[in-house]
Amino acid sequence: MPDQKELFRKIPKVDELMDSFAERFSDVPSAVLKESVHQVLDSLRTGIKSGEVTEIPDFDTIVELTAKKVGKNTLPTLRPVINGSGIVIHTNLGRSCLSENAVKAVVGVAGAYSTLEYDVEKGARGSRHVHIEDLICSVTGAEAAMVVNNNAGAVLLILSELGKGGEVITSRGELVEIGGSFRIPEIMEACGCTLREVGATNKTHVSDYENAITERTKALLKVHTSNYRIVGFSEEVSLSDMMKLGEKYKLPVVQDLGSGCLVDLKQFGIQDEPCVQESVKAGVDIISISGDKLLGGAQAGIILGKKSYIDRLKKHPLARALRVDKMTLAALRETLYVYQDENRAKLEIPTLAMIGEKPDNLRCKAENIAEKFNDAGFKASVTKLEDQVGGGSVPNQMLDGYGVVIDSGKFSVDQLEEKLRLRQLPIIGRINKDRYILSVRTLLKNDENLIIQALKEIF
Ligand SMILES: *Cc1c(COP(=O)(O)O)cnc(C)c1O
Repeated sequence: MPDQKELFRKIPKVDELMDSFAERFSDVPSAVLKESVHQVLDSLRTGIKSGEVTEIPDFDTIVELTAKKVGKNTLPTLRPVINGSGIVIHTNLGRSCLSENAVKAVVGVAGAYSTLEYDVEKGARGSRHVHIEDLICSVTGAEAAMVVNNNAGAVLLILSELGKGGEVITSRGELVEIGGSFRIPEIMEACGCTLREVGATNKTHVSDYENAITERTKALLKVHTSNYRIVGFSEEVSLSDMMKLGEKYKLPVVQDLGSGCLVDLKQFGIQDEPCVQESVKAGVDIISISGDKLLGGAQAGIILGKKSYIDRLKKHPLARALRVDKMTLAALRETLYVYQDENRAKLEIPTLAMIGEKPDNLRCKAENIAEKFNDAGFKASVTKLEDQVGGGSVPNQMLDGYGVVIDSGKFSVDQLEEKLRLRQLPIIGRINKDRYILSVRTLLKNDENLIIQALKEIF
């Protein structure tokens, strides 16, 4: 049993270690360095006390242990990953990737002053709505528009302005919960309005809405059941019937569309995902959508519809609390700009391009990547699989896709999955029937080279 006092004495001094790091980690804040040194030395002390440490490693070993700790402590928890899941709008992985131009636009305003609220022509204060309102209107056909932090915020703002102190009528089939505890009934409560549920889970008729209208009624709300579908013996009220009812009783019709689809997904073989333009055409008074789901832009909530209502929303105190940053506006502007040419949108906006990718192209991509892996000395093959749109959209339809199966060699499939995931640049794949698979639909340009690099380090 070594003398504990002797061991404690052998632990290097903090300053000694700090000195040996000064040059090596010149770009690491000294507080982070010091904390890392303390962590290593503390764990030695704890080890000595518990008897686990019976010998103090030499100075160089301690330096290397500390360097590892520094690496861990300086790694941001928010960092890029490689998405091999085949889920295009993966909410846990940040939903949509921005287009190249959108990224450039973000970078352009991020590190500089900008015209965010400055009217260059007048040399006076301007409005942050101008950067994007006309564009939203021209793409969707709406009269007016504004942008807030996210779609949950959009619904909050709309109901706070239009529903406060009264009742809002919604179908029982549409009392949606979106991931992260966004629930229509609870949102209504937070907005100071009373939810008036009508109909049954599977069927709601126009007469159900009509019978519920009283002098307390403030609005009719339709919610897109993004992440579930009621199928079988079911019926919902059409937008046009909803509009007729709204007109008859002079009540605004509000629609939370969620996904925010601007191109018809039927061309990709995807059914019943409503387009924003249809709702505008039907005359819906206020529509809200997400900026980073099917639209493929940045996190935001886009509110569009009749000018008289949007003007009221812009003046609401919550609008200030929910306003978006210049980087969001820049990203959305660039994304929406491309929608003025649908063919360009389908090519340039990653979310759309990935959803629309033809199975034949995916098979070629998978074959090329598998060949590259094989050439680099790793065993890989191609498999068919099913991908998903994700983001709580189109929950009941799969996309035909292809993946690259990587042979786990001396590791188990679970071990390989973990090794690829626990990296500075995590690689997120799938395990299916005891095979490790990367779906190629969601792999970005150059990802395969980064994966090869990772495999070389692991094997
Ligand atoms: C996704 C979704 C929301 C929430 O939108 P966020 O942009 O995530 O805040 C609200 N309503 C519906 C119908 C949705 O699909």
